[in-house]
Amino acid sequence: MKTSRFHLVTQREVPADAEIVSHQLMLRAGMIRKLTSGIYDWTPLGLKVLRKVEQVVREEMDAAGALEMLMPAIQPAELWEETGRWDDFGPLLLKITDRAGREFAFGPTHEEVITEFARAELRSYKQLPICFYQIQSKFRDEIRPRFGVMRAREFLMKDGYSFHIDDESLAEYYQVMFETYSRIFERLELKFKPVKADSGAIGGAVSHEFHVLADSGEDAIAHVPGGDYAANVELAEAVAVGERAEPSEEMRLVDTPDAKTIAELVEQFDLPVEKTVKTLVVEASDDCDADFVALLVRGDHELNDVKAEKHPWVAAPLRMATEAEIRDAIGAGPGSLGPVELPIPCVIDRQVAVMSDFGAGANVDDKHYFGINWGRDVELPEVTDLRKVVAGDPSPEGDGTLEIIRGIEVGHIFQLGRKYSESMNAVVMDEGGRGVHPTMGCYGIGVSRIVAAAIEQNHDEAGIIWPEPMAPFKVAILPINGHKSHRTREQAEKFYEELTAAGVEVLMDDRPLRPGVMFADAELIGIPHQLVIGDRGLDKGIVEYRRRGGDNREVEIDKTIDFIKS
Ligand code: ATP
Ligand code: MG
Ligand code: MG
Ligand code: MG
Repeated sequence: MKTSRFHLVTQREVPADAEIVSHQLMLRAGMIRKLTSGIYDWTPLGLKVLRKVEQVVREEMDAAGALEMLMPAIQPAELWEETGRWDDFGPLLLKITDRAGREFAFGPTHEEVITEFARAELRSYKQLPICFYQIQSKFRDEIRPRFGVMRAREFLMKDGYSFHIDDESLAEYYQVMFETYSRIFERLELKFKPVKADSGAIGGAVSHEFHVLADSGEDAIAHVPGGDYAANVELAEAVAVGERAEPSEEMRLVDTPDAKTIAELVEQFDLPVEKTVKTLVVEASDDCDADFVALLVRGDHELNDVKAEKHPWVAAPLRMATEAEIRDAIGAGPGSLGPVELPIPCVIDRQVAVMSDFGAGANVDDKHYFGINWGRDVELPEVTDLRKVVAGDPSPEGDGTLEIIRGIEVGHIFQLGRKYSESMNAVVMDEGGRGVHPTMGCYGIGVSRIVAAAIEQNHDEAGIIWPEPMAPFKVAILPINGHKSHRTREQAEKFYEELTAAGVEVLMDDRPLRPGVMFADAELIGIPHQLVIGDRGLDKGIVEYRRRGGDNREVEIDKTIDFIKS
């Protein structure tokens, strides 16, 4: 590809509304463009990266015997009513009505559709085990879409679903998927960690998430350094206007066999009264829309609506006032907010109420803990951190110390069991000729989120440093003053043709630009190998080779192609 014929539109300035580095760099490199909140175009440059990720995922799923198919994005409401999720999924579900008044949803996930497929197409145990997957756009009406494609409303997911005659077969295939996922992230050269997880609205008993490790990650992971143990703490985010509050290091964990209210916990732990106030002050700002208030007040993340129904112990401490109740209480229209009396205490931080991380539950070895992070500036009378709680628990391996690190959830696998096959009555004949409900697994990967997560982990001041398997181009050819120097241009063309013929993806910058601009673009878009060609080098019989994020060196002209190919 020659830059003159490509669509390369980069920008030097950091976009004002992009908070995290991957969002900034994807915009600056011209990989994505926002169409509307949480909905993005992928430019030709961005799509190249997305397709690379997709292809690694596809190859590994194929290698695990999964069969690719394509399901519709639009799903009829009746299917979701069969499983009860039309209501359970709550406001995340984008509902659509056709001209005849029939209701549909734009699929946020496809358990219902695949189970409908299975109940028609799978008849006998002889067809099992079987796994279907697709790579397709999903839509979730996220309460607060943010960080570009990291938490988008429309995004690309690989979702896979397996069917088994019994739980042993499911457990076996789950292990295959666990290893497949590990291989995918290894091939993409990302630092990742599989962690035990809550299965949330999807359902099922056993589940693991795969996290790309990065300080900007929204999830907190408790792990044993050097050991195998790791779990998602599901630390609810502290939210501040215009800023993401850092969760404090200390998680106070209390075992809650019975639901306790926040007020009871405050009393139990004797929290300083002056820090726990009953008035929530929300500074009105552009950022502070209706959703934001509801989020803040519930100290919640979007799945807790769903969880609340299933786990009253989560609901009780999190239950505060609904947005409607608050608006009603203060008689406020959209955007205008004043002091609000709340039934629970919260912490005031810089004129902004930061509901002090009313953490959701953590599953640490099958025990529920309720974690409360009281916020940075509150001294706890007596701190019991996660480490001490778990140290008393014999199961995690290692020396009993536990560390909290941040991660980005890029994959999630579940042993679903019979939740969907039973509610939708999918039946296959077993060996004895009896009809049984197959047991199911489901396996998701956030293909588009991986692109952003990779940048969070791999960048410097100059821009993106792609892991080679994801790079949009492997080599950049950068001719210095190629528009003026015939010799330089000719050598660049020669390299371009030879590398292209050898199947190497090359971007040759043939624009009549100052070298500095050309170099900056190649660095920004993160091309791993760069060949700088100029008259001065040619006089010496060399070109300059630059490894993105690594060293520069000189390479003899004759040896360049072999060097690049090796
Ligand atoms: P999160 O906790 O980040 O909201 P989730 O648990 O709701 O994610 P799953 O239902 O497990 O998501 O979906 C499978 C994968 O899809 C996730 O592991 C994640 O990588 C990706 N994903 C989920 N929501 C989004 C989103 N809004 N934007 C981009 N990717 C997403
Ligand atoms: Mg979610
Ligand atoms: Mg999650
Ligand atoms: Mg998940």
